[in-house]
Amino acid sequence: MTETTTELDPTATGILTIDLDAIAANWRKLEKASVPAECGAAVKADAYGCGIDRVVPALAKAGCRTFFVATVDEAHAARTAAPDAAIYVLNGLSPHSGDTLAAIKAQPVIGSLDELAEWDMFCRRTGWAGGAGVHVDTGMSRLGLSIAEAQSLAPRIASGNHGFTLVISHLACAEQLNSPMNPKQVGAFREISHLFSGITSSLANSSGIYLGPSYMFDMVRPGAAIYGVNPTPEAANPMLPVIDLKARIIQTRDVARGDTVGYGATWTARRPTRLAIIAAGYADGYFRAAGSGDGTRGAEVVIAGQRCPVAGRISMDLIAADITDLPENAARRGHLATLIGEGLTVNDLAHHFGTIAYEVLTSLGRRYRRVYKGGEG
Ligand SMILES: *Cc1c(COP(=O)(O)O)cnc(C)c1O
Repeated sequence: MTETTTELDPTATGILTIDLDAIAANWRKLEKASVPAECGAAVKADAYGCGIDRVVPALAKAGCRTFFVATVDEAHAARTAAPDAAIYVLNGLSPHSGDTLAAIKAQPVIGSLDELAEWDMFCRRTGWAGGAGVHVDTGMSRLGLSIAEAQSLAPRIASGNHGFTLVISHLACAEQLNSPMNPKQVGAFREISHLFSGITSSLANSSGIYLGPSYMFDMVRPGAAIYGVNPTPEAANPMLPVIDLKARIIQTRDVARGDTVGYGATWTARRPTRLAIIAAGYADGYFRAAGSGDGTRGAEVVIAGQRCPVAGRISMDLIAADITDLPENAARRGHLATLIGEGLTVNDLAHHFGTIAYEVLTSLGRRYRRVYKGGEG
């Protein structure tokens, strides 16, 4: 596949392949793990960098009926891709955006009493009855009504004419199995779900699903795990890899022992060294933190099937890799180096970038040619 893509697209400096079948398989695995709860999908931030216009139809085909986005623009993209799905806007209702939401049948997840008052006014004025979600804070202190504010809605809920289709809260420490925050939040949300009885309740993100059945409630909202990120960082990754990223070798060159490589001259050749200069850099989302220096190791790339260490700092458009240990002529001008794939995971790269896999995905550059695999069945 790599060879043909290269030949067909010789000017592409990088090729980002996104496996829609792996995305669908990961979602189905999460759905099975959450039965009998409904499994939705978080597709905010352009489906975690994977492309909302391609990911949403693939997930809808796999059976997903509820999508979560952050913004109205994202809701618009999701609606275009999934005409019949429920679409929730996690960032809630921004002032004067009711009409736009109603026009695309998207539902805000109301995050404060101010928003609720404005939404109620909009619904009264226009007769819009498309419903809304409501967020109750149980420990994030980010969005959501306080527990006391939620309790003040009890008469409204009891009246039956409340207009809520979903109640959510969000876990702060779901990827830490033994965090005391988890039982504290699940306990608080259990009471909220009783208070909002008859309304679909949802707490778990990807990692929350793996905390056990008591975290599932009526619906789960995985994001990262769909895109191959490990939802159980303390154990092996149960998800399939989704991303393969290759970048072009522009040239190979020999440097003498004692020569330095790259900005800041941080890396010194300790032997006669052969380098591959690769056409990707921090402007493509390959973080500068992954560079190396004398005495500090950086990330690795795979060339001709072998791991090769990054030599020196990552530039805006270029990476240098030490290929001295490769067989003669194994790496040549025009070949591709693998930055993600062949055993190099998004989670590995996050470690070298000094961040989490989520940020690796949402930083994937716009200069790569994007190739989608699968998604037909
Ligand atoms: C992003 C987000 C999710 C999905 O979280 P993952 O950790 O990516 O599974 C679920 N719920 C809310 C409120 C979110 O903001």
